Amino acid sequence: MSDPLHALSLKALSQGIVDAKFSSMEVTEHFLNRIETFDPALNSYLTVTKEQAIAQAEQADNTIRSGQPHSPLAGIPYALKDLYCTQGIRTTAASKILDNFISPYDATVQSKLRHSGAVLLGKNNMDEFAMGSSNENSAYGNVANPWDHARVPGGSSGGGAACVAAGLAPFSLGSDTGGSIRQPASFTGITGIKPTYGRISRYGMIAFASSLDQCGPMTRSAEDAALVLQSLAGFDEKDSTSAQVDVPDYSADLDKPLDGLKIGLPKEFFADGLDQAVAASIDAAIAQYKKLGATIKEVHLPHSHLAVASYYVVASAECSTNLSRFDGVRYGHRCEDPKDLLDLYERSRWEGFGDEVKRRIMVGTYALSAGYYDAYYRKAQKIRRLIKQDFIDVFKQVDVIMGPAAPNTAFKLGEMIDDQVSMYLADLYTIPVSLAGLPGMSIPIQQANGMPVGLQIIGNYFEEARLLNVAHQYQLNTDDHLQTPKQYQ
Ligand code: GLN
Repeated sequence: MSDPLHALSLKALSQGIVDAKFSSMEVTEHFLNRIETFDPALNSYLTVTKEQAIAQAEQADNTIRSGQPHSPLAGIPYALKDLYCTQGIRTTAASKILDNFISPYDATVQSKLRHSGAVLLGKNNMDEFAMGSSNENSAYGNVANPWDHARVPGGSSGGGAACVAAGLAPFSLGSDTGGSIRQPASFTGITGIKPTYGRISRYGMIAFASSLDQCGPMTRSAEDAALVLQSLAGFDEKDSTSAQVDVPDYSADLDKPLDGLKIGLPKEFFADGLDQAVAASIDAAIAQYKKLGATIKEVHLPHSHLAVASYYVVASAECSTNLSRFDGVRYGHRCEDPKDLLDLYERSRWEGFGDEVKRRIMVGTYALSAGYYDAYYRKAQKIRRLIKQDFIDVFKQVDVIMGPAAPNTAFKLGEMIDDQVSMYLADLYTIPVSLAGLPGMSIPIQQANGMPVGLQIIGNYFEEARLLNVAHQYQLNTDDHLQTPKQYQ
């Protein structure tokens, strides 16, 4: 029996469409049907763009049939975190304040995918404004983890992770500020990559913390991630933080053997707080890398224990300024019958933002206020510099760093909702990488207690191709990334 369409790689989907084994329309309808059947239980989509998808699929089929040159993503469906502006399509950032917002323009990543002929299936659920680690901060309800509906899919790109894990889209774009691609990828058993800060344009991506936010693909394999990254990476004059660095061929090095690869294991990533079963899976993955010819070295990231504290000052400070634009005047929710301008601002924001967003705005405003700026914000920036230096020193000794993507497997819904500090610690291993602006990836390895575990692979600046190569070699030699939750096979 041949594999169902939702089990095929992007390459196989693309080849199948070109060879007329099936059409983009059939593939698109297959995914739309699966969304209809399975998404009521998962809640991974906030908007399904069925009509547009069918029209785009028809157009892709025409282009391909007429023999015109086309991108490898032509005709392939995908989903987008609801943080990316999509022209004419509701874009909420999972916030009530943007409940009625229809974007007048496309984010650069969306226009790139649209021009490549890929087919948008819809917009994924997420934590409100990308603040969270469990998707429980969405104004539109939780997302269930396809491996166990009583558990969270991680966050903030929880909808994208769940939908890819359940085969409700071949790939999705997430965003990662402190771990929001890697941690949900880890919790749901998919492959997620956060590229170097500046690698992908963020124009049209609703801002959370501008010095950290980065877009990245969520896929079922490193090979798929290479194809998606290829279509997104590159300088964009509309984003002043996008990097003017050449884009390599991300698929070219995938098959390179790993002989002599130097892997650093930071001692600090294997200390207290790491679940024993997760640690055992990481050990097994490292053993596999040794078999593939890699050498292992213990390394140190001595300031990493300060990362979470520093991150919550920096990210909150930046979000408090970014979110000041939601004032009830320009777009989004406006309160009824304001009595004056101040009342309009206050009530619109009070009614529109959820608790976690309000908490961060308050922390950020406090940290930036006169008298506290030096004590908190400046200090956090200094720590950030030290963390970056730690990584620079380690990359003089090794090619990649490996460790867990998250300290635990997916936790139960509601388990941490009243314990912000534990929730913040879910990003213990991803946040240092974000503060340094480095590329990081999570790939599924041997499960622990029946739930997925992610191995984090961290590279030097702009070395995404190396990360993808290292991940692909593991996936060529194991089938951990092929595991899918039973009811979604
Ligand atoms: N969980 C972290 C936070 O809540 C990271 C979120 C993200 O990467 N967008 O800020």
